[in-house]
Amino acid sequence: MSELTERVLVLGGRFGGLTVAYNLKRLVGDLADIKLVDRNRVTHFRPGIPHIALGIRDPHEIEVDLARELPRKGISFEQALVREIEPSSNTVTIEKTDGSLVKERYDYLVIALGAHLAKERIKGAELGYSLCEVEDVTKLRERLSSFNGGSITIGSGVFYQGSNPKPKFPENYVPRADSACEGPIFEMSLMLHGLFKTKGVLNKTKITIYSPGEYLSDLSRKSREAVKEIYSQFGYTLVEKFVLKEITQNEVISEDGRKIQSDISIYKPPYEGHPVLKKLSGDLADDAGFVPTDLNMVSVKYENVYAVGDANAGSVPKLGYYAVRMGEIAAQHLANTLGVPTKIEKFQPTIFCVADNPLEGYGVAVADDTWYGGTLSKAEISPANHLKKELFTKYYVWTKGDMVLERYFASW
Ligand SMILES: Cc1cc2nc3c(=O)[nH]c(=O)nc-3n(C[C@H](O)[C@H](O)[C@H](O)COP(=O)(O)OP(=O)(O)OC[C@H]3O[C@@H](n4cnc5c(N)ncnc54)[C@H](O)[C@@H]3O)c2cc1C
Repeated sequence: MSELTERVLVLGGRFGGLTVAYNLKRLVGDLADIKLVDRNRVTHFRPGIPHIALGIRDPHEIEVDLARELPRKGISFEQALVREIEPSSNTVTIEKTDGSLVKERYDYLVIALGAHLAKERIKGAELGYSLCEVEDVTKLRERLSSFNGGSITIGSGVFYQGSNPKPKFPENYVPRADSACEGPIFEMSLMLHGLFKTKGVLNKTKITIYSPGEYLSDLSRKSREAVKEIYSQFGYTLVEKFVLKEITQNEVISEDGRKIQSDISIYKPPYEGHPVLKKLSGDLADDAGFVPTDLNMVSVKYENVYAVGDANAGSVPKLGYYAVRMGEIAAQHLANTLGVPTKIEKFQPTIFCVADNPLEGYGVAVADDTWYGGTLSKAEISPANHLKKELFTKYYVWTKGDMVLERYFASW
């Protein structure tokens, strides 16, 4: 590495971090020494995690080995735990796998550490089944395989969204949200219908979906009514304004004391800012531990620090699609800063998402910007949308998480 080469440190190796690393490498080549740090050597395609719970996909089918793949593309990788970020001295302290602590110096920092899944805020969380990571759904898969009827609840914990300082985004781009994202809850509710129908236990099963606010409030009223119609056809119960507080052996309990019977409690933990960033609240991060940036994903406080994806305060709801878009824009902006003229795209929030129901052979694709004041509101049910999700999954694994064509899939 030459003395003049700029050192770019990327923290986190999933949608956001990988998108920045791959795009920046393509744009600036050897002008930057790019290093990515993640606590895990192997990363997984998160939208494929619910499929593991159903038993139709194994973890190895959606994994990418960062230590093997990134160096092949000229990006260094280190498996280590990020312990501390010191933006005023351009250093990050990491804990290596042998337990030693090392200070990494950077010229530019990209924060893509995601959000913190605050299971510890739910009493009895260990009695429930989180949907979010591979180790969680492996447990759920076992439980579902021996399930022969009973009661099931599915719902999201609350979102601790920051408010100060605000991102330099247009006000309507960052609405207040009760849940960080209920897409995986909706998807799982469809998937279970397929699973229980296949197992022949649908008529012996009571399914309740709950939400900390208004269910799927990020979608238009028309789309929400359509979801309610699907639930009523399925015989599901929907309970709103249910802020999950406790899980017991056979119930979920809300903060205001309501109880729902539940033999299997599937949930998305409360979301809050990453603990490393929470320590920087009032400085690099907002009061909840998310990083406010401008529309180029540059921190409002430090001009050599970028934040993308779930860690960015402006990513609402927390969507992989936004992590990728933000990652592309951060890479384009940084390429310019490094002296490579590059068109910087505009961040324009629109919810694109596919909820899959593989065992019944269809998916529901959503394109919606009404939450941000727009008029786009599409929700389409079709077998093609199931194929789209399959293709997305394969594409991620083939490209090792390089989602360069993602926007074209999303615009189908
Ligand atoms: C079950 C589920 C299904 C989803 N399905 C969809 C979907 O269909 N479509 C969609 O658009 N979005 C979906 N999402 C949302 C999407 O997965 C997230 O928005 C996206 O993963 C955010 O990407 P990110 O890179 O910002 O953060 P993350 O995916 O959270 O990645 C953060 C990375 O940082 C690493 N890390 C964290 N802390 C440390 C540390 N201290 N030291 C080192 N490394 C660390 C982690 O290991 C991880 O690799 C889904 C989410 C879930 C939970």
